[in-house]
Amino acid sequence: MELLKKTIEEKGQVLGDSILKVDSFINHQMDIKLFNEIGKEFKKRFEGEEINKILTIEASGIGIAAIASQYFDYVPVVFAKKVAGANMDKDTYSARVHSFTKNTVYDVKVSKKFISKGDKILIIDDFLANGRAALGLIDIIEQASAEAVGVGIVIEKGFQEGRKVIEDKNVRVESLAIVDRFKGNKIYFK
Ligand code: 5GP
Repeated sequence: MELLKKTIEEKGQVLGDSILKVDSFINHQMDIKLFNEIGKEFKKRFEGEEINKILTIEASGIGIAAIASQYFDYVPVVFAKKVAGANMDKDTYSARVHSFTKNTVYDVKVSKKFISKGDKILIIDDFLANGRAALGLIDIIEQASAEAVGVGIVIEKGFQEGRKVIEDKNVRVESLAIVDRFKGNKIYFK
């Protein structure tokens, strides 16, 4: 997706050798015009698939998934919670997820009320690194006897193992920009 790649080249910052900082248009300030184009592109990639729900993980997936939903007939967007507040239902599906950027482990949770047997679910997230977040969401979908139709990713880091671990679960991955490598602050796409 050319607009996305151009925005990443202009505004993304490389941190160390494996983190891309995109806080000026995705992770802190959100570029809604870009999010709309991302939503349209996800719809194009998953055209013809039956999807009745979008599942993402807090926090950064929420904005992207909410905008994308408008191109999928406004299907409900459910986000897995990393911190279950006192008002969270007790009856939940849960999966243990290692956070790549924070280097901590979360028990991510979704209330059983919001995923049903037979749901056909598109997973959406901002980044794909080692695939732990997406795997956790697939695990939750399987616990509910629902189906993961695919995983839609805004930025995949192609040099990490995420795509392989998801495809090994026989789930389709569509990424709108795939980073091949970083060299200094320069970003090379596949
Ligand atoms: P994974 O679970 O695939 O290892 O990592 C994906 C999650 O970690 C995403 O939800 C995203 O929030 C975060 N993440 C992984 N790599 C990056 C990165 O390079 N930049 C940013 N901003 N977030 C990342």
